[in-house]
Amino acid sequence: MFETTLRYKNLNDRNIVEGHPEYYDSVLIQAHLLAYSKKAVPQLIRDMADERSFNYYIDPMLSDFRIGTNFRNDDGDVRGWHSRFVNQLGEPLKSVLAERPNAAANELPDNTLQEITKSVVKYQENFVYQRLQEATGKSEDVEINRRDVQPKAVIPWVHKIERVEDIQTVRELISYADEIASLPLKPCLYTTTGFVRDTTNRSLLTDLLGEFDVSECFLVFEELDKYETTQSEYTTVIDFVYDLQQSNIKPHFYYGDFFSNLLAYFGLGGTAYATLFDEEFKEKTEYSGGGGLPPRYYVDSVKDLLKIDTTVDLMNRVGAPMCECQFCSRQFDTWQDIADREQSEEALKPTLKKHRVAIRWEHARLVEEESLEDVLEGLDENFSKMVMAYSASPHVAQAKNVQYLPKWINAVKDRKELAVDSLQELPYIT
Ligand SMILES: [Zn+2]
Repeated sequence: MFETTLRYKNLNDRNIVEGHPEYYDSVLIQAHLLAYSKKAVPQLIRDMADERSFNYYIDPMLSDFRIGTNFRNDDGDVRGWHSRFVNQLGEPLKSVLAERPNAAANELPDNTLQEITKSVVKYQENFVYQRLQEATGKSEDVEINRRDVQPKAVIPWVHKIERVEDIQTVRELISYADEIASLPLKPCLYTTTGFVRDTTNRSLLTDLLGEFDVSECFLVFEELDKYETTQSEYTTVIDFVYDLQQSNIKPHFYYGDFFSNLLAYFGLGGTAYATLFDEEFKEKTEYSGGGGLPPRYYVDSVKDLLKIDTTVDLMNRVGAPMCECQFCSRQFDTWQDIADREQSEEALKPTLKKHRVAIRWEHARLVEEESLEDVLEGLDENFSKMVMAYSASPHVAQAKNVQYLPKWINAVKDRKELAVDSLQELPYIT
């Protein structure tokens, strides 16, 4: 199975989480959204858990405080949702952020690291349950089973690994979490392709996880941007995923585009993305505004989110039939209909989100069911079909190109001897 994890990072995401559980396996809730929506989100978790087994994780978000001022307002105070979250965690994080510009794990004394780690583990394990207890405290006939509303695993404080010294910091963070957690740990390794290009560094990381009783981890690379990442960087990512799998740890992408689906053949266990954006990650240093992003359509033939006018132009150029997913087929007859809807007052984004999660869910089925060769062949056909239209379209943003498709194909072919033909062949990890 290839796990699909949907990020819950915006209050509107509730509609998809609640209305379309058939399009995800688990949900990754951002810790500060939960702190802000501390009544509605726990209630949603409870309702979902009542109906089915509901799997979720909480993104600990502490890495947001590592550098920069993205989490502060102009007066220097911790802003909005971050402030709610810091208040929930309490001391010592509160004082650290009052006295220092940042809370970087490698700059803080050991006992502070230990205390903050403890607070974020407790937050993940207990916050939802406690809020539900408080909410139902008065009615005696309601009983909540703690395990039903707890996350699937605890994600320890994530610290960016750019140098060998950072590994020791991460080791401390995982061990402190390990001391206190009662749920399984699923650490997140946050690093760069530059760091893991080095075989020794890769071994240090697999050895690090080997020190703990961990069967899965998350993985996030800084700026694995499809327009910028080189073929050899993609090859490095394959090597690292393969190394982890060989040491009996199933990695899952914390943010992933279609390339992460290809990694399934090398041992990747799943991928995560938000309802409409976030297929890659870039550390923020400045506040970039809380406003909504413009609508994007997920164009399956290029495995990318594109502006509506770009989508319409490209699809018309290649004469592509309208998407057959249940949402598009119900609402749009032609590509132009999407652009017309964008111009009208009627909300377009909910449909775009549903289309996107439906298509990305199919991608997980694709890698489960098809051979690697067939999937690569499909990508190659799409590339041939789209490349001319892509370079001819005046709507395509200058920074964009579709060359990532051959880079993905070639990187995978370069490492073909490490791949399995079908996911059934992957060693079973208990
Ligand atoms: Zn669709």
